[in-house]
Amino acid sequence: MSDKTETNSFAIAIDGPAASGKSTVARRLAERLGLIMINTGAMYRAIAWATLKKKVDVSDPEAVVAMLAEIAVTCGVKDGESSILIDGVDPGDALREDQVNARVSQVAALPEIRELLVAKQREYLKLGSLVMEGRDIGSVVFPDTPYKLYIDASEEVRLARRSAEGLTDVVSKRDEEDSKRKNSPLMVAEGATVIDSSEMDIGEVVEAALVELQAQGLAV
Ligand code: C5P
Repeated sequence: MSDKTETNSFAIAIDGPAASGKSTVARRLAERLGLIMINTGAMYRAIAWATLKKKVDVSDPEAVVAMLAEIAVTCGVKDGESSILIDGVDPGDALREDQVNARVSQVAALPEIRELLVAKQREYLKLGSLVMEGRDIGSVVFPDTPYKLYIDASEEVRLARRSAEGLTDVVSKRDEEDSKRKNSPLMVAEGATVIDSSEMDIGEVVEAALVELQAQGLAV
């Protein structure tokens, strides 16, 4: 699918490892530029959450894929950001729980899950221009977009950011699984500009992102 529709909607792709600050940057950019913010991690998390609810063993790919036929996954937009319902239920804060953190990378490694969610991610372009954040946005979901950033930060900083949020997230384990998987691994997409946010506050990262996007041709 092309990254542009007849209405000239476009996507800004923001990828990076866990807790690199990419969601906050994506949200701020979306607010500044008047775009819809799409959090694709929440989509993979929602499927992982569904496996918990349905007591599906995530080490059994066939069982996880079979579950897809039994659940309704509804993607939408609420208050300018992507939303996701599983069988009509918004999992809310449960998406960030340890149990979900522990299994989401395993679920996200399955090609059938990625196929389903990537199709839904591309559909969002029909609603308008987007800032979409994840792991494979610049490499797989919208490879032809000229607007691509990769937000990085040292592991130490990323762990500190998660614990400041009161969360214990196994970021390095997830990063390893996400980087080593066969399907759509975490990577710096071709044409993406890397921003190392380790020594920056969020405002500085947003400013740096706007400068880089402008250099990539975005009218800001
Ligand atoms: O971004 P977040 O940390 O919420 O993502 C949770 C998990 O979802 C990641 O660790 C990764 O396994 C998966 N993911 C993915 N592709 C994306 C977004 C997230 O595989 N585009």
